[in-house]
Amino acid sequence: MELDTARTEAWLRAAAAAVTAREAELTALDTAIGDGDHGSNLRRGFTAVLAGLDAEKAGGTAAADRSPGILLAAAGRTLISTVGGASGPLYGSALRAAGRALPGASAGPDEVAAALGEALGAVRSLGGAQPGDKTMVDAWAPAAATFAEAAGQGLAAASAAAAAAAEQGARATLPLVARKGRASYLGPRSAGHLDPGAVSTALLFAALAEACRER
Ligand code: ADP
Ligand code: MG
Repeated sequence: MELDTARTEAWLRAAAAAVTAREAELTALDTAIGDGDHGSNLRRGFTAVLAGLDAEKAGGTAAADRSPGILLAAAGRTLISTVGGASGPLYGSALRAAGRALPGASAGPDEVAAALGEALGAVRSLGGAQPGDKTMVDAWAPAAATFAEAAGQGLAAASAAAAAAAEQGARATLPLVARKGRASYLGPRSAGHLDPGAVSTALLFAALAEACRER
């Protein structure tokens, strides 16, 4: 199985559906240790991503202009321009970097692993967070590493393993003290709460697994 245009589009649509369905939860998490806008930020951003996908389809954009890399890069640009918070530029840069790493009409598991590594690199170079700083990096890093380790088992298995790793990484942010982003202003009081961006990253990887499931 390869990550082709249909699966990339399914990934973005599943991500949009997930952040919309879980908006209240993401907002509640961000209310506890941030400013309470993470759910609405991502719903707004991914709603614009969906609108972009629909407009392209309606406009009959040629298949060659809808490669996985082009779709991901366009989604990244949309997130950067529509999401005001820190998470928009971070997710946007991640998707743009992943898109740049996927130039072909479809991508095998090793190429997808490399693209996810590029995405993580973009988040880390823009935000400067290390694993353990209680940010989305705590879900991205184990997810990208696990995907790369499992790539030999195929796209479906690697995506499922990465989703589980992201979920576990998000859960592991609970006791951490935030060292980056708004939550770091709280110091030790940020402990005892899940990081909203790590939880939304787990949703993004669950969406990838859903799009790449064997049917
Ligand atoms: P804002 O913090 O501007 O209100 P959001 O609420 O949308 O933006 O996103 C907050 C999330 O962004 C945090 O939970 C965290 O995961 C992530 N984040 C914030 N700063 C950084 C950073 N420097 N590096 C990585 N992730 C970060
Ligand atoms: Mg916020």
